[in-house]
Amino acid sequence: MLFTKAYAAQSSTTPLAPFELYRRSLKDNDVHIEILYCGICHSDIHQVRNEWGGSMYPMVPGHEIVGKVIAIGNKVEKFKIGETVGVGVMIDSCRQCKNCIKDLEQYCIEGMTGTYNAIERDGKTMAQGGYSSQIVVNEHYVLHVADTLPLNAVAPLLCAGITTYSPLRYANVNHTTKVGVIGLGGLGHMAVKFAVAFGAQVTVISTSPNKEADAKKLGAHQFIYSKDEEQMKKYKSYFNVLLDAVSANHNYSKYLDLLDIDGKMMVVGLPQTSPNISPFSLISNRRSITGSMIGGMKETQEMLDFCAQHHIVADVEVIPIQKVNEAYERMLKGDIKYRFVIDIASLNEK
Ligand code: NAP
Ligand code: ZN
Ligand code: ZN
Repeated sequence: MLFTKAYAAQSSTTPLAPFELYRRSLKDNDVHIEILYCGICHSDIHQVRNEWGGSMYPMVPGHEIVGKVIAIGNKVEKFKIGETVGVGVMIDSCRQCKNCIKDLEQYCIEGMTGTYNAIERDGKTMAQGGYSSQIVVNEHYVLHVADTLPLNAVAPLLCAGITTYSPLRYANVNHTTKVGVIGLGGLGHMAVKFAVAFGAQVTVISTSPNKEADAKKLGAHQFIYSKDEEQMKKYKSYFNVLLDAVSANHNYSKYLDLLDIDGKMMVVGLPQTSPNISPFSLISNRRSITGSMIGGMKETQEMLDFCAQHHIVADVEVIPIQKVNEAYERMLKGDIKYRFVIDIASLNEK
């Protein structure tokens, strides 16, 4: 058993605090990773605060993990000691169902095993995430990370990156596509970078008028302040694809009206309350609304390789773990450009 320092939430109402746990000893196909950086996803806040229900405590959050391989099991083939690797939102799945076989492990029929706030497939071990010094993961769920990019800015690719790359690819976004990104947060700013890289005409649709300059710097061509009804009206029936990356409750129909004929609204944001959607907004222009969850292991590797090739990383503010509770509050106020990343070396500081 491997002694591991971490930060955990003991309940939905207590701040994160130092915590100790044991990782399993290596099995044949396990990779033992010393964690260097872990991004803070809004899903961490939702789960720590039990906003989706069913949260399990103590909970060590964190599913945007980058680190170094420090040991490998006897049968590991894909990784060597010393290599830089990543772990994202899942650490296991059944590996046999029709979706797992199609490299869509995130949609495993039995349910994927989350990196934290989940029970592992042995039926008893609580999975604990990346706000910790080390992790042991089966090699199938570990990714190769190029050393050519700044590793702290790579960490958010493991969730914010793949969660936006996958639906934009699925929607076949290219130079003919008008893409609207709703919500310029951690996911939203990655969506802008990918949509721009795929050649699309990109618009940020935001509740924060002060983000316009940033949106343009990220490569967006246009900006809509969504609380201004005149601006929203101007873009009625304009977009082919909308990517909704909003973390808070909001009115989906208001955005659906922006879709052109056969336009798709792809939902990745997961607010606490289910939305009311007007069927009239859907039947007009034969619109559809769909959802997307992270990406499979093969596609996540493809995304990381694409980022290495095109020099795409997240815009990050690196913090010591002692500032994690403050970071959560700042995220809720929109005071972050655009992803916090924890420097895990700080776990050794008081
Ligand atoms: P984040 O960094 O906090 O960004 C959320 C953004 O939502 C904010 O920057 C803000 O953008 C917008 N927003 C906030 N309140 C709003 C409101 N009342 N109305 C409209 N827009 C509002 O969060 P994140 O880490 O990107 O995560 C976004 C969501 O995706 C979360 O719910 C998270 O759980 C979910 N998620 C889903 C998956 C998946 O697999 N589907 C994976 C990861 C995360 P503006 O200031 O520009 O309006
Ligand atoms: Zn996430
Ligand atoms: Zn499966």
